[in-house]
Amino acid sequence: MIPGSPAFRQVPAWQSALARAITDPAELLAAVGLGAEWLPAAQAAARLFPLRVPRGLVARMRHGDPHDPLLRQVLPLAEECLVADGFGDDPVGDLSAMAVPGVLHKYRGRVLLTVTGACAVHCRYCFRRHFPYTDANPAADHWSRALDYVSSDDSITEVILSGGDPLSLSDRRLADLAQRLDGIAHLRRLRVHTRLPIVLPERVNDELLGWLGATRLKTAMVVHANHANEIDSSVMTALARLKTAGVELLNQSVLLRGVNDDAGVLMALSEKLFQAGVLPYYLHILDKVQGAAHFEVNEFEATRLMTELNRQLPGYLAPRLVREEAGAPGKVPVT
Ligand SMILES: *Cc1c(COP(=O)(O)O)cnc(C)c1O
Ligand code: SF4
Repeated sequence: MIPGSPAFRQVPAWQSALARAITDPAELLAAVGLGAEWLPAAQAAARLFPLRVPRGLVARMRHGDPHDPLLRQVLPLAEECLVADGFGDDPVGDLSAMAVPGVLHKYRGRVLLTVTGACAVHCRYCFRRHFPYTDANPAADHWSRALDYVSSDDSITEVILSGGDPLSLSDRRLADLAQRLDGIAHLRRLRVHTRLPIVLPERVNDELLGWLGATRLKTAMVVHANHANEIDSSVMTALARLKTAGVELLNQSVLLRGVNDDAGVLMALSEKLFQAGVLPYYLHILDKVQGAAHFEVNEFEATRLMTELNRQLPGYLAPRLVREEAGAPGKVPVT
C-alpha cells in the first residue's frame, strides 16, 4: 500500500455527508412528514432543477409543516414550472460580464471566480439555476487563464471565490488555488462566498482552516443564511472556528416571500448571526430568475421592512438592502 495514494486516502466526513444529501422528492417529503399530495409537483419541478438538501439541514425543519421557512427554500413546488413575465435565465447579466471563462469582473477592484457549479443545497430561488457552468469553469485549465487575468490587472485587490459553492471543492484544490493567489502581489483580500458552513457545518474542518489561515491575504467569508432557524449549535461551532482562525464573517440573505418577508424574522436572524460572530452584510432583492417568481417581495414592501429594521436594530445589525442590476458598477442600494 502506498501511503497517501488516492485509493487509500480517507474521504473527509463532509464529503460523505454531501454524498448522503437527499435528492429524491419522496424521501424529503417522508423525512419532514408531508403527504404524497406534494409529490407530483415536487417531481415535476425537480426535473427543471434537481432537489438537493443535506440531511443535517432537514433535521432543522419543523415536522409536518409545509410552510417551514427552511423547507420552502428547498422543496420544489408547482409554481416553479410557471413562466413569469419579466423573469429570465440570466437576470444579472453574468454571461456578458465574463472576462475569461469563470471570471466575472463587473466591479472595480474585485473579481469573482465561479470556481465550481456544484452546491451542497439547491436553493429554489437561486439565480444560478440556469447558469451554464460547463462553459464557465476556470478549473478546466487548472485556473491558468483565470490567474493570468488577475495577475495582468493590478487594479484588482480582491478575489472572491464563488460558484456554485466554492467549498464544495476539495481542500487540496482550494489550498492550491489560494497559494497561487497569494503569489499575486497586488492582491490584498481573499473572500469566499459560501453557504456550506450553514447547510453542512462539517465542512469547516482542520484542512479548510489550514489553508485559510496560511495565506498572507486578509480573509473574509460571506455565508448565506435566510432565517435564524438555519443556525443551530453545529453551525455556531463551525462559525466560531472560522472566527478563531481570523476569518472576517459576514452574511448575505435573499428576501424571500414565505421565508423571511417579516421584520420580526429578519431581526431574529440578525440577532442570531451576531451571536454567532457574523455581521449582516446584504439583504438581496430576489433576482428575476425564471421559476422563482413566487418568492418575490416587491421593492415597496422591501423598503417598508427595512425601515422597520432600521428603527429597531443597531446600525451594524441592519443589512444593506440591495438589488443587482446588469451593467451597474456595484450592488444597487434600494431606498
Ligand atoms: C456581488 C458581486 C461582487 C461583490 O460585491 P461587493 O459589493 O463587494 O460585495 C463582485 N463581483 C460580482 C460579479 C458580484 O456579483
Ligand atoms: S448555495 Fe448559493 S449558489 Fe448554491 S443553489 Fe443555493 S443560493 Fe444558489
